[in-house]
Amino acid sequence: MKNIWIIANWKSNKNIQEALDWVAKVGPQISKEENLKVIVCPTFSALSEVKKAIQVGNFPMLIGAQNLSSFGIGAYTGEEPAAILKQFADLAILGHSERRKNFHETDEMVAKKVEQALANSIIPLVCVQNEETPVPKDCNTIAYEPIWAISTGLTNTPGAGRADTPEDADKVAGVFKQKYGPQLEIIYGGSVDSSNVEGFITQENIAGVLVGNASLDAEEFLKIVKACEEI
Ligand code: PEP
Repeated sequence: MKNIWIIANWKSNKNIQEALDWVAKVGPQISKEENLKVIVCPTFSALSEVKKAIQVGNFPMLIGAQNLSSFGIGAYTGEEPAAILKQFADLAILGHSERRKNFHETDEMVAKKVEQALANSIIPLVCVQNEETPVPKDCNTIAYEPIWAISTGLTNTPGAGRADTPEDADKVAGVFKQKYGPQLEIIYGGSVDSSNVEGFITQENIAGVLVGNASLDAEEFLKIVKACEEI
């Protein structure tokens, strides 16, 4: 049975109390299933408390960071090194289009971040924007997120802020598998919600969803998880 990753990317949202309220609502409702990988990615400052809440509740969830430093421990003011983040994070979202756009992250920086993540046993989840985005060496999990499909509308193109079709996302995922090998797991991201999630996760080449806006609401996120559990 293929893995189904359901990853909540909260971006710069939720203070610690809001994060804990969400975990208290979502955690007890998630079924323990080997292939279901539910991961929440809070802000750096909420990671520690969210991790504690998940451990205390014994919820079948993992924790992700939304970024990490391309450097190690040392004199890098303001950076979060993987060697420290590994206390909290099982996974890190790397090369998100918002980071590429707003913080000028390049493919080279993303490749260095992947190296840091792997050296510290953090799963790198690299966001690729189209078939041309390179997948760094030894990275086996990517999120195909066409920029125009992100719900907040990173582009002004007509149709922006709407999900890709499951069929098109599957085709792109197939191209990545052909290029990099069958071990690569491809997650789809971009305007996923409870009404369209089933279409994506039932595609042959798609192994889950990365959810931004719709993950902020605990009830809506749970509906997404339940839809995946029923497949
Ligand atoms: C994202 O930005 O990673 C994302 C998937 O956002 P949204 O679901 O809001 O389109």
